[in-house]
Amino acid sequence: MASKKSTLAATALRALRRKLPGRVSVTQAARFKASVDNLRLSFWPDAVVRVEAAQEVGMVLKLAHEYGIPVTARGAGSSATGSAVPLRRGWALDLTALDGVKIDRVARIATVGAGVVTADLQTRVERAGLFYPPDPSSKKYSTIGGNIACNAGGMRCVKYGVTRDYVLGWSGFLADGSPVQWGLPLKKYVSGLNLRDLWIGSEGTLGVVTEAHLRLVAKPEQRWMGLYAFKSESSALRAVRELLKAGIEPSILEFMDCQTVACAEAYTGKPLLSDTSGVSILLIELDGSAGELRKQRAALRAFMLDRTVAQREARGEMQAEALLQVRRTCSQSMYSLGDTKLNEDVVVPIEKQAELIRYTIALKKEIGLPTPTYGHAGDGNLHVHIMYNRGDASQSKRAKRGIKKLMRKVVELGGVITGEHGIGLAKVPFMGLQHSAAEIAAMRAVKDALDPKGILNPGKIFEPFEVWDHEPVAVKFSWDH
Ligand SMILES: Cc1cc2nc3c(=O)[nH]c(=O)nc-3n(C[C@H](O)[C@H](O)[C@H](O)COP(=O)(O)OP(=O)(O)OC[C@H]3O[C@@H](n4cnc5c(N)ncnc54)[C@H](O)[C@@H]3O)c2cc1C
Repeated sequence: MASKKSTLAATALRALRRKLPGRVSVTQAARFKASVDNLRLSFWPDAVVRVEAAQEVGMVLKLAHEYGIPVTARGAGSSATGSAVPLRRGWALDLTALDGVKIDRVARIATVGAGVVTADLQTRVERAGLFYPPDPSSKKYSTIGGNIACNAGGMRCVKYGVTRDYVLGWSGFLADGSPVQWGLPLKKYVSGLNLRDLWIGSEGTLGVVTEAHLRLVAKPEQRWMGLYAFKSESSALRAVRELLKAGIEPSILEFMDCQTVACAEAYTGKPLLSDTSGVSILLIELDGSAGELRKQRAALRAFMLDRTVAQREARGEMQAEALLQVRRTCSQSMYSLGDTKLNEDVVVPIEKQAELIRYTIALKKEIGLPTPTYGHAGDGNLHVHIMYNRGDASQSKRAKRGIKKLMRKVVELGGVITGEHGIGLAKVPFMGLQHSAAEIAAMRAVKDALDPKGILNPGKIFEPFEVWDHEPVAVKFSWDH
């Protein structure tokens, strides 16, 4: 006999289909697609609901709330932490059709649907002579809703900041389907409690965003890019600190250790520098007016003179983009080192980065597994990976031990366990390292107040989850070129 829960779920689904005919899919293909994100663990929803207008989100949530059905909002599903997978089944809410864009050039504000793809927005904004800086490496796929829910960063944060720095306001829905508007398309707003910022980075656990008002800035007149090779990881990361101290203000300041460089070069089939191997790299972009750029470039050249073993300057935008593209492939390229990755986007104070990288090198020896590391060195945000083969019990055990040690070291250095990917499922084991019991209880109280039935993205952030105990699925995403 069907349980009360499954009878209710079936009744709710029938009601949903009546309200949104033709938009609710229960096919294997649709459910599988919505069951995974870039963490590659699969948890199937009962149905996938595609909304085409903001008020439909309210309708779906009202029904879900009434019947106690879990709802997981989804953009592109590029989350690195499992935050976009429907762990407790229920309905996956596909928001990608909310793709309207309006640009107010005078106020320099873009009003965009949650489903707008980040790179598409940037292209449209740049056509209007303006600039929307947040640029996660997934920007060709990720959506603005997903960026807000994860407070996405990217390469240009070192100069321009993260998604939060550009969100003036947004509208969306509470768990019970009530519409809310946290902020308006205005430059100033201090009315009531700031729930706008509370929801940014909350991974779809507090409400669903349907439209956002984003601050735009002047488009830099010119850009320039150089690539610098260092004989060791520590010397590259020490240079980062000294360069910032010297007043050079890069718009991109990316680091790749020698393990990552080797993977990226093998993946793209192109060496980054023709006459070196075994080097670590800094990729540096400068931007601004012609005058500012001339001054900054001269300062950078003088700074790098005796520090590097090789360097290369991009000739023009196309070469610069090609270098950035190599950097964007780093994440996928390291599967040549193992079929499974534990991927941590940790942040430490800038002056502690050299110590952290020395730790990862020692860890590599200790656990006998590759620890390729790259990332946004200008923000102290390094992506440390441990690569291993899942089928090998000894490797799995060593990888798990290694990642726990790494996270303890990060916190000991005054850092944070995640800088831009969020907690999702993957970082849950480390919440207790970062936060006191009182802090976690306060977060829980906020969650319970806003989502008393616990239907929004349940199982994420707070519930115990051991990521390494779950088998990843074989899936090819658009970003796995
Ligand atoms: C190759 C690659 C490179 C990446 N590089 C970066 C990087 O440089 N910087 C970075 O920050 N991240 C990066 N990421 C991670 C990921 O792309 C970002 O977290 C991105 O913001 C997720 O957007 P999405 O549309 O794919 O969201 P999804 O993965 O679909 O969802 C992510 C989370 O947001 C929630 N959510 C989605 N839409 C909404 C909404 N409208 N309302 C409420 N909640 C919502 C989901 O429930 C989930 O919790 C990368 C990922 C990949 C695969």
